[in-house]
Amino acid sequence: MQRFQCYIDGEFADGEARFESIDPATGAVWAEMPEAREADVDRAVEAAHRALYAGPWAKLTATQRGKLLYRLADLVAENAQRLAELETQDTGKIIRETSAQIAYVAEYYRYYAGIADKIEGSYLPIDKPDMDVWLRREPIGVVAMVVPWNSQLFLSAVKIGPALAAGCTMVVKASEDGPAPLLEFARLVHQAGFPAGVVNIITGFGPSCGAALSRHHKVDHIAFTGGPETARHVVRNSAENLASTSLELGGKSPFIVFADADLESAANAQVAGIFAATGQSCVAGSRLIVEKSVKDRFLDILKAKAEAIRIGSPLDMATEVGPLATRRQRDHIEVLVGHSLAAGARLVTGGSAAEGAGYYYRPTILDCDGSASPSLEEEFFGPVLSVLSFETEAEALALANNTRYGLAAGLFTRDLTRAHRLMKGIRAGIVWVNTYRAVSPIAPFGGFGLSGHGREGGMAAALDYTRTKTVWLRTSDDPIPDPFVMR
Ligand code: NAD
Repeated sequence: MQRFQCYIDGEFADGEARFESIDPATGAVWAEMPEAREADVDRAVEAAHRALYAGPWAKLTATQRGKLLYRLADLVAENAQRLAELETQDTGKIIRETSAQIAYVAEYYRYYAGIADKIEGSYLPIDKPDMDVWLRREPIGVVAMVVPWNSQLFLSAVKIGPALAAGCTMVVKASEDGPAPLLEFARLVHQAGFPAGVVNIITGFGPSCGAALSRHHKVDHIAFTGGPETARHVVRNSAENLASTSLELGGKSPFIVFADADLESAANAQVAGIFAATGQSCVAGSRLIVEKSVKDRFLDILKAKAEAIRIGSPLDMATEVGPLATRRQRDHIEVLVGHSLAAGARLVTGGSAAEGAGYYYRPTILDCDGSASPSLEEEFFGPVLSVLSFETEAEALALANNTRYGLAAGLFTRDLTRAHRLMKGIRAGIVWVNTYRAVSPIAPFGGFGLSGHGREGGMAAALDYTRTKTVWLRTSDDPIPDPFVMR
């Protein structure tokens, strides 16, 4: 059985305890993970704090930080296939996706490597004579990064990359469900030559390890990705250290299809939007909102595509849908589908777990027209699509915005003026027009409302890991005159 370790202060170490990790494709234990508890968390945060102020990291130039990031990017690219296999083994996400995604993760590190020495301060045209005043951009401090199990290398790269570019130090908490790829990634951080304590990677359970980390008094910022309920805990924890937070949470993203759209192309995008990653994607296009006149035709195309999907071992390159990451996840989907059918949703296809070992669930489509299905509001985080239809553009927009989430939206139409109108009206952090689920290090990513706040990706994300220092320098050699007059 494989054993993994935490990475704290430049050393690989066991946690206070250990726990077993399950292969979701078989339900069998395949590896042993270190469980970090409060004392481990404390060691990691102290190491990050020391590295921030006292170690060689603090003395590096921004260009030198960028060079370390370039080295890390190269190592991620060189090791992408091995990391992908680990992620697939530990989370069940299919190898076709993990291998492509992790190869692309290298590009995120490369992008932020280039940004490291482009984070500039500014000079202020101050309204006083004999004064030079400028803003320095300094690292925000020690960052706690808490991530979920889906796409951990990607979700951590969009935090680690900009934070390192900005000069921060950090403790990254891998999810207790499938931490193998992030713990293994720590070896690349070590190999790249980052000074001890700059990047610490641990794993453990939410209420112990995650809570201890997010309320630690030496943490300055918490970058969290996960569900809204956990985010509430994290925000409450931040009342202890008054750390700032950025929250990337869930979604119930609308996928709007007008009758004039290329239906075949839209159907492929819808399959990518809801069945890729077995639906375990925060941007899953989980609410199809389709124009009534083409609803039946579009559902026929989708049903045929859903039923042709190859379900199988996630390590097989031919597999298109693998297992859910955990039994808990599959049970949640079964219960929610049951409630939705009881509330009047009609099953178009799927609706049951696949036979055999492992946590498989069939690609499922629920026609929710005329029902008050809970599937329209609650996130499945699984391969389940809920369908509604509309007759007017205004109706489509109202349905799209009828959610407390606001992460992403898809819009399929050939009418460009309509696309512009709707793009402005949709309440979501990302709108994809005639495409879906495209990402890039250059493009910010994040949501509104229950989907959280803060943006990852892009230049601004690096600035978010900085804080400004205002420096006043008096340029006159004359003695300060009246000490009782503020100047
Ligand atoms: P989760 O919220 O259960 O867990 C996320 C992380 O929080 C884990 O590492 C967990 O250990 C930790 N945690 C749990 N309790 C904690 C506590 N009290 N204090 C501190 N940390 C704690 O999420 P999950 O089930 O692992 O992942 C699925 C969720 O993540 C979905 O809602 C999904 O939409 C969301 N997600 C969002 C994005 C995005 O970028 N917006 C990306 C991927 C996933």
